[in-house]
Amino acid sequence: MARIGILGCDSTTRQMNCVMIGCFGNLRERKGSFTDYPADEPLDLIGIIHCGGCPTAVGADRIWQKVQALMDYGIDALHFTSCLVQLCPFKGAFLETIRKDFPSLTVVEGTHPFHDLEAFKNGVRELVSQRAVTPQRMNDLVFKRIKVTGPGDNEEA
Ligand code: SF4
Repeated sequence: MARIGILGCDSTTRQMNCVMIGCFGNLRERKGSFTDYPADEPLDLIGIIHCGGCPTAVGADRIWQKVQALMDYGIDALHFTSCLVQLCPFKGAFLETIRKDFPSLTVVEGTHPFHDLEAFKNGVRELVSQRAVTPQRMNDLVFKRIKVTGPGDNEEA
């Protein structure tokens, strides 16, 4: 049995509400980056950790305790989510610190099949900037132009 952990991106899950359906679906169906395990070896998802947010100056120090927490449960392999692999500027630093601190741990780059990089970047750019579909903000409430649902639909506050 392969005991598997997943390291995901805080931005895509916490800010963009990704529920990791692609990661879990591919693990369940042994597709994407889960095809290399022997067919007769059951895959056991032990736990999921996230990077803790873009770490800037502290770099990979943010993740080692999280990886240690999974190691305490005896994982054999840690998969980086495909979004992390494709977009994260700290991926190399994460790899370096894991290889140094946990040399016995197998790191697999990816979970589900990779996206078309340019299209994926454009989509993420829109999710971050929200220029095409601008959400309502506190200023909409302050300036009494907020649109509401339910009783009084779309009346000004
Ligand atoms: S450090 Fe990388 S994985 Fe973490 S939130 Fe930033 S981009 Fe995502």
